[in-house]
Amino acid sequence: MQFFVKHLYLIAPVLAIVALFGVYRLIKANDRPIPHYEPKQVEETWSAEEYMRHLNLKPFNQREVHQLLLKRTRQKPGVYLESLLPAMDTMGIEVVRCYHKVMGDDYVPVITSGNDYPYHKQNSKHYKNAAMDFRIVDMPMNKRREVAEMAQDKLGPRFRVLWEKGEMEHLHVEMVDVEE
Ligand SMILES: [Zn+2]
Repeated sequence: MQFFVKHLYLIAPVLAIVALFGVYRLIKANDRPIPHYEPKQVEETWSAEEYMRHLNLKPFNQREVHQLLLKRTRQKPGVYLESLLPAMDTMGIEVVRCYHKVMGDDYVPVITSGNDYPYHKQNSKHYKNAAMDFRIVDMPMNKRREVAEMAQDKLGPRFRVLWEKGEMEHLHVEMVDVEE
C-alpha cells in the first residue's frame, strides 16, 4: 500500500499512454478498407425464383409445371385454367406427351376447356377444377383413337379419359376422385 501511495504520481502518465493506445487502435481500425455491398453480384447468383426453388417450396414447382403446360399448348379464347387443381397440370403435360408421340413433336395440342364453359353438365368435373378438354377433331380418326387410348394408359386409374364424339367432339380428361 505504501508503495502504491508513493508512486501515485505515475497514474497520470499511465492513463495517458492507455488513452494514446486507444486512439491509435481507433485510427488503425478506420484504415481497414470498408467492404462495399455489390447487389449486382447477388442478383447473378440467385434469382428470386432460384432461391425459392432452393428452399424447396412446392407451390413454385407447381407454378412451373403450370407455366410449362401453357407453353406447350394453345388455349381456345376464353379458356380458364388458372383455378385448376395442381394435379391437372401434371395430367395436361402427360396428355401433351401423348399428342407428341402420336402426331410428332411439332404438334401443338389445343385446350378447349378448363373451368370456363358454362354449358357443361351441372355436376361436371369442369366446375370442380378437375377436368380439361383437348381438341381432337383436326386429327385423322385412327390418331384420335391412339391418343385417347395412350392417354388413359399413361394416366392410370386416377384419371378418366373420355373421347366425346358427336357435334362437339373432343377429348375430355377428368380426375376420378375429387375432394369436395
Ligand atoms: Zn370436358
